[in-house]
Amino acid sequence: MSKIKVIPCSGIGKVFGLLARESVLMVTQEKCPNETETFCLAHVVTGDDEIVDKIKGETCITMDGCAKYCSKKSVEETGGIVVKSHKVPDFMKAHRGEEHGTGTYLTEDGWKYAEELADILVKDVKEVMEGVKVNV
Ligand code: SF4
Repeated sequence: MSKIKVIPCSGIGKVFGLLARESVLMVTQEKCPNETETFCLAHVVTGDDEIVDKIKGETCITMDGCAKYCSKKSVEETGGIVVKSHKVPDFMKAHRGEEHGTGTYLTEDGWKYAEELADILVKDVKEVMEGVKVNV
């Protein structure tokens, strides 16, 4: 089985975009480096041949910074099979009132939230690896 593609939106200038990217990097670099990989969304959007080949028909999980779902939409348009998609604000309920940082840095609470998002992605990865059908 090839690695599961976990792809965040670019979300430049927004803390939710930074949270999406950092959570995905935690998964692909620290928590599940042997099972997952990520790509820069810009390469997906611009149709970089090498990246398109790696995504087409492959299992993908996306983490977006808002309801525009740039990553989910771009990955699907490229032919990736998005088995699970999230957006950072969906998990904010338990974090109301916290300061997470800005588009360029995360506070301590921001890093904790990123870790929580990463753990949600890890759960998805495990479910996919176990062949459990997950909802999109
Ligand atoms: S999903 Fe939202 S935050 Fe992310 S790149 Fe698109 S518009 Fe920006």
